[in-house]
Amino acid sequence: GLLYLAAILRRNGFAVDFVDCLATRHPETSGGLNGERSKRRKFGTGNFLRTPIPKPAGLKDVPKTYSRYGITPEEFKAGLKAIERPAAVLVTSLMTYWYPGVFEAIRLAKEIFPGVPVILGGIYATLCTDHAQEHSGADFVLSGPGEETVWPLLKDITGCAPAFIPKAQTLDDHPYPAFNLPGGSDYVCLITSRGCPFRCAYCASHKLAPLFTQRAPEAVLREIYYWYHKYHIQDFTFYDDALLIKKKVHIWPILEEVIREKLPVRFHTPNALHIREIDDYTAYLLFRAGFKTIRFGFETANMARHRDMDGKICEGDLMQAIKYLRQAGFEAKEIGVYILSGLPGQEWREVAYSIDYVKAAGGMPYLAEYSPIPGSPLWPKAVETARFPIAADPIYQNNSLFPCAGDFSWETVQRIKMQVRAARGLSC
Ligand code: SF4
Repeated sequence: GLLYLAAILRRNGFAVDFVDCLATRHPETSGGLNGERSKRRKFGTGNFLRTPIPKPAGLKDVPKTYSRYGITPEEFKAGLKAIERPAAVLVTSLMTYWYPGVFEAIRLAKEIFPGVPVILGGIYATLCTDHAQEHSGADFVLSGPGEETVWPLLKDITGCAPAFIPKAQTLDDHPYPAFNLPGGSDYVCLITSRGCPFRCAYCASHKLAPLFTQRAPEAVLREIYYWYHKYHIQDFTFYDDALLIKKKVHIWPILEEVIREKLPVRFHTPNALHIREIDDYTAYLLFRAGFKTIRFGFETANMARHRDMDGKICEGDLMQAIKYLRQAGFEAKEIGVYILSGLPGQEWREVAYSIDYVKAAGGMPYLAEYSPIPGSPLWPKAVETARFPIAADPIYQNNSLFPCAGDFSWETVQRIKMQVRAARGLSC
């Protein structure tokens, strides 16, 4: 989102500086200021710099290390000092329980640029607006897509009204997100659609993007060509919530052209794909077009829970999809299947059974730890069952705490994690 805003601002003639707090190429980070280096792996993936820091008061009794991910405060301040005093500082936010890092970024921005307004947007700001307004220290907190709400504010601050403002829902009108800012990236995140037609009880996709809209396939292809030809990008990561929906008029024509043109690119889908959309032709296209990382949102082998919570899986769907994927050429180790763990009241037996089920179906199980999300249909039940005051403080919405799990113990969590690693053939 922030990179889309940066691209729109640049299109309007604004000068944009970008300090990426998760940068792995930061000049100081690569020198490993705090001991742990930022390790890079294939396809542009890797670890972020991790610095253990004191736990917030509410997490003192949790037997886990609390860490900051990303550049250090010193590196961040150096990054800010290296740029001209801006008219405004825009800060984005992701998971609700990561807000302490956002607050620190805001505090430091204000320390380096006193008097410069700080505008906070993003997922935390949208889902926990009251909390952000009360505690973040930002001068302005924007809820919802920033492309809709930030312009009047920037006009008030700068006195300049951007002439070009695309509509938030029509991504084809947007300039490409500014991955080409200094310190950029060796991969590009692609969004070919916004929103999701499903309404899974544990998800807040509809709060963040109420309508499901898709870009034109030819516009997506133009973007892939742009990054490939101009910046030699070969790794593309789809961040759609529903990439395969309406596949015949959306992903099929995109992948057919990639195959026809023999583009030497690789695709990755860390956001889950819909299992039911996999048929033999779709599996063939995914394989031939160069999908290297694929993940599916299976969630649980408990079909009654699917009927209650999402309606997106029936008995036999996973086996069928994996059969098509294997026939297309994927190896079992390439077929990642997410299993939700720690749902309100969920017993660990269900998670253990789901891991075995995925393994038996021929996929690789990955645990997706449930985070209670404000605004999701399951939120009231999550608040009711949580062991922590998740509504009062988003810090407790952290999935690592398994705040809502039924028969919870840290030993059980460890056992389940070992079961997953064993199922994937990793050492425990
Ligand atoms: S969990 Fe996935 S399928 Fe369900 S609503 Fe969210 S994005 Fe859509």
